[in-house]
Amino acid sequence: MDSGRAAKFPFMKDASEFAEANSVDLDALIVSPSFEPARKRGLERVMDALERSEVSYRPLIREYDRLMEVMSYPYARMIVSMVGDRFLTKRYALAEAVRMNGILSGEDHATVVAVSEELGVTSTVDADGIIRMKFTDYLMLANRLKSVDWKLINSDIHSGLVYLPQEKFSRLMQNALQDRIESELPLMTPEEYRRYLRGAVDAVSMALEETKKKYSPTGGEGMKNEYLPPCLVRILEMSRQGMNLPHSARFALVTFLHALGLDYDGIIRVFSESPDFDEDIAGYQIKHITGELNGTEGYSPPECKTMKTNGLCHNPDTLCQQEWMNHPLTYYRVKSRDRTKGQNAQQTPQQGPGAGSKTDQ
Ligand code: SF4
Repeated sequence: MDSGRAAKFPFMKDASEFAEANSVDLDALIVSPSFEPARKRGLERVMDALERSEVSYRPLIREYDRLMEVMSYPYARMIVSMVGDRFLTKRYALAEAVRMNGILSGEDHATVVAVSEELGVTSTVDADGIIRMKFTDYLMLANRLKSVDWKLINSDIHSGLVYLPQEKFSRLMQNALQDRIESELPLMTPEEYRRYLRGAVDAVSMALEETKKKYSPTGGEGMKNEYLPPCLVRILEMSRQGMNLPHSARFALVTFLHALGLDYDGIIRVFSESPDFDEDIAGYQIKHITGELNGTEGYSPPECKTMKTNGLCHNPDTLCQQEWMNHPLTYYRVKSRDRTKGQNAQQTPQQGPGAGSKTDQ
């Protein structure tokens, strides 16, 4: 067992062996004053995920510090599990995985192979330091990476194996760890732990609300009619007039409202303005599309290209005709941003989609 490796990669067997060797159990982690640093660091891991999208890393030399780092990992997972929010779980999983990627890309080959084995990916390293992995594993982990570098046609493949430099292989391990953490959470945590974790859970819940507001195109303020793109204005008009909405239009409307941060009640209120409103039917469709029925994230709203293909791009205005306009959410965000700017300072002409916006990237 390697305590340095355990502190760097607390999801590995080394970490549980290190804890066992020091006779640490969960009860001690939750209540013992000597584990206060581990609890503090556990909370920091989750806050890092919310505030920086990456869990921080610092090299640790002392065995005691390494033990606290290892134990902070299960503590962080308990906090995330008790908050029980899917957005937080996904963000936390990503932040732990990004941390691991940053460390793994500079590790020795034996560690790279051991970490990948732990994550269920068999790999070997050749004399030049090139890592080989199964073609099927590559496809599973690379298919969500959009850059052309990851397309199979640009990969080095021989006899069913993909050859990768360490940096790229580590990036794929990031996806593998993210998937693993997402699949493991939430944990079943004993009821009696709740009161000990209440302070941390409350702090994370408050920070989570702030983060959600920041990422919501509406700043958490719901839908504002004056920022809606013409396509959504038209779909809403049709709904209010009781016209028969094609499935693609209902889908676009629900996903768009969901992306704006409206919850089930907010979306059903919009549908209830239709004269033939039936809550059972509309409710089922909303829960299916937003993922509430099956506990998933739900679907994303269609981009302009898909709206055009489905005949839903209606009466595009000058903002729609900008070269960079590719998504109804971008339209909404740009309009709300420009209106806010106008109110604040009566300033600057429109300059295209805002940098750093999630939808515009
Ligand atoms: S260009 Fe895009 S935002 Fe504008 S109306 Fe068409 S689909 Fe909607």
